[in-house]
Amino acid sequence: MRLFYLRLVACKPGLVFISIVIMFSVLTANFLYAQTEAAAAVAMSAVQHPWVLVIHGGAGNIDKAGMKAGEEQAYLKKLDEALKTGSEILSHGGSSLDAVEAVVRFMEDCPLFNAGKGAVLDENGKAELDAAIMDGKSGMAGAVGGVTIIKNPVTAARRVMEKTCNVMLVGAGAEKFARVQHLDIVDPSYFITPDRLEAWKKSRPAQPAKPVNSQPPPQKHGTVGAVALDMNGNLAAATSTGGLPGKLTGRIGDSPIIGAGTYASNNTCAVSATGHGEFFMRNVVAYDIAALMEYRGMPLEEAGKLVVMDKLRNQKADGGLIAVDKDGNITMPFNTKAMFRGFVKSTGEQETAIF
Ligand code: ASP
Repeated sequence: MRLFYLRLVACKPGLVFISIVIMFSVLTANFLYAQTEAAAAVAMSAVQHPWVLVIHGGAGNIDKAGMKAGEEQAYLKKLDEALKTGSEILSHGGSSLDAVEAVVRFMEDCPLFNAGKGAVLDENGKAELDAAIMDGKSGMAGAVGGVTIIKNPVTAARRVMEKTCNVMLVGAGAEKFARVQHLDIVDPSYFITPDRLEAWKKSRPAQPAKPVNSQPPPQKHGTVGAVALDMNGNLAAATSTGGLPGKLTGRIGDSPIIGAGTYASNNTCAVSATGHGEFFMRNVVAYDIAALMEYRGMPLEEAGKLVVMDKLRNQKADGGLIAVDKDGNITMPFNTKAMFRGFVKSTGEQETAIF
């Protein structure tokens, strides 16, 4: 080798010089590329927030023992799939708004939950759906109430937020708007599952309906909701529901009421609630959490505990909520026996639970 090199230097000094120059340039280019990549990675990690997604599928007084065979696993599987739907968006740099809409759409399409297909039925055996979405970055919000033919009410809520200067549209007006927006429209029977119909038939009152707040609290809720923090540090919340079983026709619950069942602000947190809606409206629950953080400097977990375990429980108000704050802390308090829930974080932590 040494001999070969000495001969080469002797015969072709020009060739050797050129190859040395080429080698040097390649090494320098590689070094510079590696430096740039490292600098970009440092810059990305400096500006990117860890992302977080929290979901719920309703709270209620159900016992583990009271669940049918395989029911618990079926719910946990769907909660896992819902988390996957959202984490695919968030892990690729998608917005919290897109994530919460996609997750809630997924849960609306799943007949297990009380939202979209599989919603509980009102006094007349009809599904009347409510939904809301809020963008913590802009403070904009949209909602629909009492809709009967919009396949995915949460998407209609997002369109209200983005395409109108209003916050809430209800009933026929919301449905007309959904048609204009070319959203998926279905026959009202699409939402009715055999299980919900059977439950409705069993619980049909012999007497005309009484006001909801004089009825006993429903034993099982199934509203769905999602809150998220994305890589850009933006918060969003969305909630969708069929409301309370046997509710009076025309009754709107807390879910689509901004500040009651749904709220998001980049200053504080994003919240989605589930439970006996009339109490959540009277107590402005979702905003109360944000206000405790903003005005009292209370940490998210403490605020959630105060509102759900003290304030609501003292009023015998059933329910719970999920929330994530601007730093990625989460809380999922509930004062019922169960709340279908789950979370996933960019750190890889993930959990689903019911009891
Ligand atoms: N909060 C909903 C309502 O009152 C019901 C639920 O969360 O299950 O409409």
